[in-house]
Amino acid sequence: MTTTDAAPYAFWLAGRAARGEDAFDVTNPWDGGLVGRVSTPTADQVEQAVAAAAAAKDAFAATPAHVRAAALDHVSKRLAERAEEVARLITVENGKPLKWARGEVGRAVSVFRLAAEEARRFNGGEAQRLDTDPGGVGRLALTRRFTRGPVLGIAPFNFPLNLVAHKVAPAIAVGAPIVLKPAPATPLSALLLGELLAETEGLPEGAWSVLPVPNDQMPALVQDPRLPVISFTGSDTVGYQIVDSVPRKHVTLELGGNAAAVVLADWSSEQDLEWAASRIATFANYQAGQSCISVQRVIADASVFDALAEKVVAKVRAQVTGDPSDAATDVGPLVSEAAAERVAQWVDDAVAKGAKLLTGGAREGATYAPTVLADLPADAVLATAEAFGPVLSLHRVNGAEEAFAAVNDSRFGLQTGVFTHDLQVAFKAHRALEVGGVIIGDAPSYRADQMPYGGVKDSGHGREGVKFAMEDYTYERVLVLTGL
Ligand code: NAD
Repeated sequence: MTTTDAAPYAFWLAGRAARGEDAFDVTNPWDGGLVGRVSTPTADQVEQAVAAAAAAKDAFAATPAHVRAAALDHVSKRLAERAEEVARLITVENGKPLKWARGEVGRAVSVFRLAAEEARRFNGGEAQRLDTDPGGVGRLALTRRFTRGPVLGIAPFNFPLNLVAHKVAPAIAVGAPIVLKPAPATPLSALLLGELLAETEGLPEGAWSVLPVPNDQMPALVQDPRLPVISFTGSDTVGYQIVDSVPRKHVTLELGGNAAAVVLADWSSEQDLEWAASRIATFANYQAGQSCISVQRVIADASVFDALAEKVVAKVRAQVTGDPSDAATDVGPLVSEAAAERVAQWVDDAVAKGAKLLTGGAREGATYAPTVLADLPADAVLATAEAFGPVLSLHRVNGAEEAFAAVNDSRFGLQTGVFTHDLQVAFKAHRALEVGGVIIGDAPSYRADQMPYGGVKDSGHGREGVKFAMEDYTYERVLVLTGL
């Protein structure tokens, strides 16, 4: 990567490495060590990147699909070749256990490959007959999608590579310039991705920039009319601030959640409960619970509750907590000590209000022990907030209807897992649950990168998933031919 002992990591301005006047530290959440210093762009450099994106709009849209697809294939191939290096970089900047970081890189490899495939088949267009009414006789409508214009992509810290990939790859696939802003805690994997993009051929200058813009300079960038599309992934607080500040822009919000795993009465064999408990324990704690779809609530039918709870607690206790660079570690630190302290306060608040602590509840530095609570009172912060930490609460219900009502009793709605064998109930869950995705037979945390992904309610609006982001970055424009 572009750094020396003396110089901080460069950012990418209109496809070229550049440095500004200031820099900030990226530290390892596990040991507090300095991972690197990253240069921040000056206001003038941000202006240059935006101007270049605006200037590249037409040329990029006109780039042939085979050129865009080749660029995306190149990034996918190079990411695969450098997978271990990138995974280790994610681990040191984010604190994510190596095994999950390797998984994230594998997914980003797929995202670029999928985007290359979609670039080749996207926008075939559609012909529509108009002679269904007398006024349409002799006319024909042709539909094609055109880009809405340059995109401002804003990414969170928790998947510092793959959620960047989900913004950048679809933009390249449709030929929309993108200015990508990584999270301040985890900019290094996005900057490394820039290195691979810089190796590609045929993309016009200005097609992409990766700019670690400080948060206090973001409102001006958000307001910039030359970036009519904003693709934001992060907290609901910042997301809705953005929407409120630019109500006329096309803004996609991928926000938080408090995902539930529902376990119904028919999911009751020893094998069933083993599988459900194991998936719940894993996906409540992967990345220390810092995923928008990590399991935060278990809503179980009373007939299976006790047996399930026993297994969940045993499996949560068995999670290996420790150094994220050790391949055997399941649960590493949170992104910062402050984040772990916030989780500790919320668990203490729940216990003080009457929740039962079944396991966990201890903090050491930025690491918080995987925690299970029962009898969570409704006035506890954790009953309604997004935990974004390794904390799970268990809830007892009677029947599917009560379970689905409990899932919907939330301001969030991202994904729900439903453990049932009953196909009728699966369809009922699909109809009843106010979420963007229902996962039958697994935790809510399952995501394949081609699936439409996003939320309802305070979890946001719009969809990612390669093809869906490509649709989001473009709009249909119809061409009506007369006199045929
Ligand atoms: P955050 O909202 O603090 O930051 C997200 C991004 O917004 C960062 O790049 C940050 O620098 C930037 N930002 C901060 N202030 C800004 C401003 N005023 N204007 C524009 N940008 C600004 O979120 P985070 O802590 O990085 O990420 C955690 C959150 O992201 C959680 O709520 C999590 O659930 C959510 N998330 C959602 C999804 C999803 O796909 N739905 C995926 C991952 C994370």
